[in-house]
Amino acid sequence: MPGPSLVLWNIELASADHPVDGSRWVLHIEDGIIRSLRPVDGTDRPSGAIDFSGAVATPGLIDAHLHALSGEVVRNPGFGPPAELKGGEPRQRALGYFVLAAMAQALLSSGFTTVRDVGSDDLEGIALRQAVDLGVVPGPDVLSCGRILSATSPGGAVFTPMYRQADGPDEIRKAVREQVRDGADFIKIMATGARSVERENPEPAQLTREEIATVVEEAHRIGLRVAAHAEGLEGTRLAIEEGVDTIEHGLSLHRDPRLLELMAEKDITLVPTLSTFHDLAERFTESFPRVLVDQAKRQLEEAYESVAAASSAGVRIALGHDSGPPGDNAVEVLRLADAGLSNHAALGAATSAAANALGLEDRGHLAEGKRADIALFARNPLEDLGVLRSPEALLAVVKAGEIVHQA
Ligand SMILES: [Zn+2]
Repeated sequence: MPGPSLVLWNIELASADHPVDGSRWVLHIEDGIIRSLRPVDGTDRPSGAIDFSGAVATPGLIDAHLHALSGEVVRNPGFGPPAELKGGEPRQRALGYFVLAAMAQALLSSGFTTVRDVGSDDLEGIALRQAVDLGVVPGPDVLSCGRILSATSPGGAVFTPMYRQADGPDEIRKAVREQVRDGADFIKIMATGARSVERENPEPAQLTREEIATVVEEAHRIGLRVAAHAEGLEGTRLAIEEGVDTIEHGLSLHRDPRLLELMAEKDITLVPTLSTFHDLAERFTESFPRVLVDQAKRQLEEAYESVAAASSAGVRIALGHDSGPPGDNAVEVLRLADAGLSNHAALGAATSAAANALGLEDRGHLAEGKRADIALFARNPLEDLGVLRSPEALLAVVKAGEIVHQA
């Protein structure tokens, strides 16, 4: 028995695979899958088809680097509850789960149908995945790493509930297995320290080559991918040479073109997260120690240089916002274009390239047989990427064949 069907009538297609030529299409969806895509070419509207004349469809957007954090207020001004005041009513810990639900709704109703949680407190990313998958709250599909694996480090003192510190191959192998036990969809490691920790130098490698190799071996053996937080060159090198699947941030890559060649050769994706460097260098300078703000200013320039170098070297680039508020994730698409990506490549970073980086071959394209995750806009984002972050331009969002948001 065929499942529920949906027919979208008279739409333009915008994706990394489609030229901007004004052609109009009719799209048949069944059981959550795009069954056919045909040019309209003077045919009549099939009965039951929804008339989207003038609308432009993109694949559902994908964010490959966000943090599903119920308590994150610094990067989400204007989102979630106002900051707590001294003497006010103490807030319940569980309040945070409502914030997570609001975050999921904001992501979905801005066109994001899949997100990858690269670290959250107390397995909140996994709780959110369950809530969405079980139909408790509307939201994008969530892939979560569980806890981030790091060496015993100053970052561990700052981000304790988000980190699982482990030292030596045996301990880190156990840490991988713990994440698998707790429901992780992939593994995230700290190949270097973090720019947001005052006592941590992000330049040297943090985990040893042996530790990284162990994580990759353990994760790949059971079919999970590995994402590496990588700032300084040495840790980035170890992660690439040992075969992780995605390099997060990767701002030092412009310093070593050979590493970019190796990434292209080994099919490793770069997730540049330009927005997060803008945050520390420009947006939230009052919230961080001066030394970190100055460091971020240098890193911001390097991050843009690395995107340009990676793009010329043929490295796949995927979108990661790593910032806030939820719902404004597409600002990263514009920043990738500022760094030199064509509009097609920048939209591809938020769709097909991100799907590929996450190992989700079933989505990211507007093509027969792919999952019907679709965002419908009033104007063509390939002509003006700003459309992607204009709430008034988003007409509807389809996730797995169902309309989940409509203007
Ligand atoms: Zn991050």
